[in-house]
Amino acid sequence: MKLSCRTSLIKPSATLAITAKAKKLKSEGKDIVSFGAGEPDFDTPSYIKDAVKDALDKGFTKYTPVSGIDELKNAIHDKFLTDYGVNYENNEILVSCGGKHSLYNLFMVLLNDGDEVIIPSPYWVSYTEIVKLAGGIPVLADTSFNNFKFNLDMLKENFSSKTKAVIINSPSNPTGVLLDEKDIIEIAMFAIEKDILIITDDIYEKIIFDDKNFFNVLMVDKSLKENTVAINAVSKTYSMTGFRIGYAAGHKEIISAMNNLQSQSTSNPTSFAQYGALAALRGNLDFTMKMKEEFEKRRNYMLDFFENEIKTVKPVRPDGAFYIFADISEVFKNSGGSIDSSTKFCSYLLDSYLVAAVPGIEFGNDNYVRLSFATDFNVIKEGLNRIKEAVNIDNLKNLKRG
Ligand code: PMP
Ligand code: GLU
Repeated sequence: MKLSCRTSLIKPSATLAITAKAKKLKSEGKDIVSFGAGEPDFDTPSYIKDAVKDALDKGFTKYTPVSGIDELKNAIHDKFLTDYGVNYENNEILVSCGGKHSLYNLFMVLLNDGDEVIIPSPYWVSYTEIVKLAGGIPVLADTSFNNFKFNLDMLKENFSSKTKAVIINSPSNPTGVLLDEKDIIEIAMFAIEKDILIITDDIYEKIIFDDKNFFNVLMVDKSLKENTVAINAVSKTYSMTGFRIGYAAGHKEIISAMNNLQSQSTSNPTSFAQYGALAALRGNLDFTMKMKEEFEKRRNYMLDFFENEIKTVKPVRPDGAFYIFADISEVFKNSGGSIDSSTKFCSYLLDSYLVAAVPGIEFGNDNYVRLSFATDFNVIKEGLNRIKEAVNIDNLKNLKRG
């Protein structure tokens, strides 16, 4: 059977594929250390689980309104009011099956064939694929020469008459880098001037280190509400990745179109999962802050280890999220040409040292590797020791001979 041209345009999510592969090898008894997973390793807080159990017991097991139950939309409304000072009406909010689904709905209703979306690169694996699926063209704005910080010059350089939207993801997956407030404001002003949509993916907003603060342009200019779609989810903030609850807030025409699309695809997000998300958003951030502190300790440990023990792998210092994006070009050199891509490097790590990591090429940068530190401290220590062995110059030379 010949499948649609649309399907052949996209590749599977590498982050999910590598995580699944590591889990499978582990279940087969292999001593795998995985830096693959892009999800918190903490158990979902019990008050959230209890809310789901309660919802099931009360019989909330049926269809809900497509855009989500009112209680949850009210909680999302309150979250935006508290965090950004922005007042979204209920018809300006759509709850979907994860942040990824929110983005999917958005690009599907936004893009015509050939419309361009400017994506700061390196980028999260799904942005490019969803844009392509929707008929759009991902336009990658290289940020690597500016400490991975997207700015107005990069936006201008990549802007064309076909530009429909620009993505802001701060802190970012895969670098964890936070954009400067000034840059975000300048980007937003240019977007307004050119009438392009600002898509702000704030999924890592609560996981920020070094006492730095999250910033969204809506916090300083409420009028941007009409030109911005804010994407978020409970997935990372409350360690609820499997619940699949995300949400979008923006202009009512866009949200209404997304609602129509969702009504013809998934219908409502899972009824009882919505009650879990409601408990999460109505609760406090104690759990999140504890998790964040733990992530920060792990980040510090990893940065120190690279600085002192593995000098040939050079990490970007993440301000937030839970990833280390590290430059491996010196390892390529030391391998005498036998490792010349991030994919080969990750295969070498997995085959020879049983370490799973995501090749940088999947995020648009082949000289890098992504290591998630959303995993146990002991696993991190073991994994780093293995990587140290793997990139040891003698072992790399042997690889060439072998
Ligand atoms: N945006 C970014 C930057 C992400 O890393 C993720 C992680 N999967 C998502 C959106 C979507 O998250 P989810 O669909 O699990 O809510
Ligand atoms: N966002 C996470 C990651 O980058 C989860 C997997 C995915 O949805 O891509 O690993």
